Amino acid sequence: MSDAPRDPDCLFCSIVAGDVPATVVASSERSLAFRDIEPKAPVHVLIVPRRHLPTVAELAQESPEELADLVLTARAVADAEGLDQGYRLVFNTGPDAGQAVFHAHLHVLGGAALGWR
Ligand code: 5GP
Ligand code: ZN
Repeated sequence: MSDAPRDPDCLFCSIVAGDVPATVVASSERSLAFRDIEPKAPVHVLIVPRRHLPTVAELAQESPEELADLVLTARAVADAEGLDQGYRLVFNTGPDAGQAVFHAHLHVLGGAALGWR
């Protein structure tokens, strides 16, 4: 694993560092999970790698272990939040997908039947 330094201008790096407050719901050596500030479903959690990588594609290339850890942490969050009827995992990538924060993050959405679009 190469070093990916913290980006001083990155919101999610600041949350990982504890400099910006967030409601943390799960944590591992590699990942941090916290509630989305503007939830789009009854349960909406963001899971980020602790290291700064802008997109999931770069994360996959740089560190498949960290990518896998996001998904495993999502499962732990789903268990803890009682999402026994299922949940949706989303990686917005690039402007057309509406990616607003360029620190890779996995959205976990659940708690109701989710529409498509
Ligand atoms: P994106 O559109 O980049 O995939 O998702 C970024 C997400 O970050 C959005 O769902 C947005 O609501 C969330 N977000 C933006 N600013 C903050 C913040 O300061 N704290 C938290 N917890 N979530 C945020
Ligand atoms: Zn970052």
